[in-house]
Amino acid sequence: MPQYHQFDALVVGAGGAGLMAALHASRSVKTAVISKLYPTRSHTGTAQGGISAALGNLEEDHWEWHAYDTIKGGDFLCDQDAVEIMCREAIDAVIELEHMGLPFDRTPDGRIAQRRFGGHTNNITKKPVMRACHAADRTGHMILQTLYQQCIKQNVTFFDEFQVVDVLVENGACNGVVAVELATGEIHVFHSKATLIATGGFGKMWKVTSNAHSLTGDLPAALLRRGLPLEDMEFFQFHPTGIYKLGILLSEAARGEGAVFINGKGERFMARYMPTLKDLAPRDICSRCIYQEIREGRGIDGKDYVYLDFRPEVINRYFEEDGNPKRVDAHYLEQKLPDIIEFARVYLGVDPITQPVPIQPTAHYAMGGIPTTNDAEVLADETGRIVEGLYAAGEVACVSVHGANRLGTNSLVDLVVFGKRGGIRMAEYAKQASFRPINRDAAAKEGAAQLERIRNSNGTERPSAIRKELQALMDDKVGVYRTGAGLEEAIDHIRDLQARYQRIRIDDKGYKWNTDLMEAWELGNLLELAEVTAYSALWRQESRGAHYREDYPQRDDVNFLKHSMVWKNGRLEVRSKPVRITRYAPEERKY
Ligand SMILES: Cc1cc2nc3c(=O)[nH]c(=O)nc-3n(C[C@H](O)[C@H](O)[C@H](O)COP(=O)(O)OP(=O)(O)OC[C@H]3O[C@@H](n4cnc5c(N)ncnc54)[C@H](O)[C@@H]3O)c2cc1C
Repeated sequence: MPQYHQFDALVVGAGGAGLMAALHASRSVKTAVISKLYPTRSHTGTAQGGISAALGNLEEDHWEWHAYDTIKGGDFLCDQDAVEIMCREAIDAVIELEHMGLPFDRTPDGRIAQRRFGGHTNNITKKPVMRACHAADRTGHMILQTLYQQCIKQNVTFFDEFQVVDVLVENGACNGVVAVELATGEIHVFHSKATLIATGGFGKMWKVTSNAHSLTGDLPAALLRRGLPLEDMEFFQFHPTGIYKLGILLSEAARGEGAVFINGKGERFMARYMPTLKDLAPRDICSRCIYQEIREGRGIDGKDYVYLDFRPEVINRYFEEDGNPKRVDAHYLEQKLPDIIEFARVYLGVDPITQPVPIQPTAHYAMGGIPTTNDAEVLADETGRIVEGLYAAGEVACVSVHGANRLGTNSLVDLVVFGKRGGIRMAEYAKQASFRPINRDAAAKEGAAQLERIRNSNGTERPSAIRKELQALMDDKVGVYRTGAGLEEAIDHIRDLQARYQRIRIDDKGYKWNTDLMEAWELGNLLELAEVTAYSALWRQESRGAHYREDYPQRDDVNFLKHSMVWKNGRLEVRSKPVRITRYAPEERKY
């Protein structure tokens, strides 16, 4: 018999978005959080650089400037009403975090300190503006700890190390989820009036990635299997500064503090491509410029990497060249960027204070995901119909505030603003709704069947080999540069891997802490999401933001100023949805 639980509001995922939603929902209804990781191990805890809000603590700033930068950074694919909400509410959200006790860095007069970040500008001078609030380079860690403490104080119920394997969507409404308790292998049915999905990104389909091991897209894949669509899956951001070959992130905060890119000829090449913002151009642009340098033979020693240089004397030289009066020394950098300096020392054996650091672009962030309204309600189709009782927020959701490319520091804002809106909305709904009946045993059986099939499968294929092949394929054919022919090959290859996945075998047939089994199940999700990513990328015959088609190098607003929505009901189908434009007409992106 499965174990059975009932909650008004259920949140899946204990990162910044899930905890913010749970905190707000729990103020009025009985709320639980389910997480496959212990909450404070969620990926939000690795976010380094900052959370942006136009506080204007150090120089003039306005939320409207933040909104314009976000929309331009997103290559005009953002839904502008959603962006306006995010940038306006960011200010109160950061102050709310401060009041909860988040230890932000401070200015000498005690206000929240702010730093520069890519694509964030003074809209009049076009120069970088200090908008990112931070706690050294451990901002996400502090957010996660703060929110977790608040949830505990609020008596939110936590189911830690429970992995959700199915979402109970029936007749256009959601009634809860099915999860496996990892310690025992037991199946649990969670019955709810309102369910919010906040399971984060899914970058593990690529080999070189900044994403944690756990980011495998379990819930978006579950929704696809339940006949629901995903939005803008072709847009996946490659962050320019991953540690060479490892993909571990060195935050853009380094460039916010003055670090520069250097090629094999010793040139600060971004000055050539983007004369105003230079190294602080948005990420999609920086990543393409790095590859351009490498392709033209100007990688370091002609190889496939460039340097991120944050030696104090180099930073100061370029500050002087740019007319910036600021100067830094080793002590200052060690204080502002302790973690990433440590990462370079530990993982590369390179000391950034005295040596330049080898970097390459790394798969980083999903702009696409589960389509939602501005109140985190999940959309059933392109007409705006919603799935009753189902919500999504955070990286897994596509509101869409990031459009075709997200600006640095805008994810943490998205988590707290839309996590809060989702939490409030789901509680309002749960207060007036009643529990819809469910068939517990059938639900448990269906969830368990997915795992039993893998446990009992006696094929010859190894999940680890399939995963490796998928990741290499995605790096090669569905990376920073794409072509129609390459994407078609990728889709065929992924389908072949899906067929081989039906014939896998795992060694551990047990129930307790069976990571072998859960990783094999997660691989199935990655294969589903890789297929829809490549398929949407093939559909979009233009280049916009992070999606660059070598066979269609221009942005095409006539045919593609619209969101994609992809379904997999037997076969894949793409439909489109208009972009909501309020006050910022699409323009060419120059920095
Ligand atoms: C290295 C790194 C640095 C970053 N730095 C910044 C930054 O400085 N500023 C910024 O704005 N953004 C940054 N980002 C992006 C940002 O951190 C993420 O987009 C954001 O933290 C995602 O938060 P989330 O709440 O959506 O999900 P996450 O924090 O990823 O949490 C996901 C949760 O879902 C749970 N979960 C997943 N699957 C299941 C399942 N099947 N069953 C149950 N639970 C499940 C996990 O246990 C976890 O609790 C960074 C990202 C990375 C990888």
